[in-house]
Amino acid sequence: MEQTIFHRILQKEIPASVVYEDEEVLAFKDIHPKATTHLLFIPKHFVASIADVTPETAHLPGMLILKAQKFAKEKGIQGYKLTFHVGKGGGQEVMYLHLHFLSEERVSED
Ligand code: 5GP
Repeated sequence: MEQTIFHRILQKEIPASVVYEDEEVLAFKDIHPKATTHLLFIPKHFVASIADVTPETAHLPGMLILKAQKFAKEKGIQGYKLTFHVGKGGGQEVMYLHLHFLSEERVSED
């Protein structure tokens, strides 16, 4: 299986600004932010894309959304946008499932 840049971030082989981690998910700042706050939530279980989700892995996108919701509540972020890019035609460059979290509000520690 081809290793993506997000595999390497998950394995701590390359640095990232991690904002949240638990047994299921890693969240870190996007290196090229397109909003005041631009985070990426990735599952620790690898799936390449929404296009590759199966009945066995269908819980993962919902899990990422719940983690993003919890993060926003804990950080006092009221409004945000969540997006999945799907495949090249959908603007997906990194073939490791990830949820974009964008907000014009700032995380309080920033
Ligand atoms: P996609 O276009 O695949 O949905 O989004 C991939 C995102 O990953 C892009 O917004 C891009 O800026 C971000 N990205 C790519 N390489 C790195 C990296 O090495 N570190 C971090 N933190 N973000 C990255």
